[in-house]
Amino acid sequence: MAERDEMLQADLCGGQVRVMLCETTRTVQKCADIHETTPVCTAALGRLMTGTLMLGIMMKGEDESVTVTVKGDGPIGSLVAVADHGYVRACADHPRLELPLRADGKLDVGTAVGHTGRMSVIKDLGMKKQYIGQCELVSGEIAMDFANYFTVSEQQPSLVALGVLVSGNAVLKAGGLLIQPLPGCPDEVIDQLELRSPMFADISREMTFAPIEQLCEDWFRGMDPKILERTPLGYRCTCSRERMEKALISLGRKDLQDLIDEDRGAELVCHFCRSKYFFTTQQLQALLP
Ligand SMILES: [Zn+2]
Repeated sequence: MAERDEMLQADLCGGQVRVMLCETTRTVQKCADIHETTPVCTAALGRLMTGTLMLGIMMKGEDESVTVTVKGDGPIGSLVAVADHGYVRACADHPRLELPLRADGKLDVGTAVGHTGRMSVIKDLGMKKQYIGQCELVSGEIAMDFANYFTVSEQQPSLVALGVLVSGNAVLKAGGLLIQPLPGCPDEVIDQLELRSPMFADISREMTFAPIEQLCEDWFRGMDPKILERTPLGYRCTCSRERMEKALISLGRKDLQDLIDEDRGAELVCHFCRSKYFFTTQQLQALLP
């Protein structure tokens, strides 16, 4: 077992194709532990975090981040993941939702998320600049939804595989693959990639047999795979007492005064890491504008 989660960025055929391949087992386990997720929710959040990390790695600026929200009509409610470079955090409205397995024995992420709804991608580019992309959900299984997002919103045809293999509370393997033929890529190369796509359809299971560098070699044999960059990945929240103070101030004077009058203090819980922040009445008073 690899010692850490990692993203490999590679190219094929002398730069005609861009590839990202990552293992996110520990990152998804940490998320599952924090939110005490059921297996189907572990899979949904794990796939979303893995896809979001791929977008996060593409952001180059220091203070840039990306937020992906999936809001379908399924019982899990909304899912949100935020990635800044190699770090990600995520939450779901109903992380303890239980659903029966699909007929083929797989976790039913599509039903949990729902088949209609939207995926939105907000790239925070620093200095108050934002890019917002939105598209309709195509399957609710998340990998196809990311592929659709790249193709429709970024005009970049993409093949995406995301997988989370779960046994009870344990994440056995999690990871993802993104393949993007760059402009001018010949049809023969694209045909080769399509021909090979069944090999990576069940990516988390493949990862139980070999580390990701080996899979990269095996899957793209004959296409000159070259690993260009490796980035460690992890689950990390950015909440702080200062951010919670800002959230309290943003309630507005009246609501803050109500909390002070109730004289019981206020406890705020971070959605992403479940850290608790307690404010006494006196501390709340100090926040009044
Ligand atoms: Zn937090």
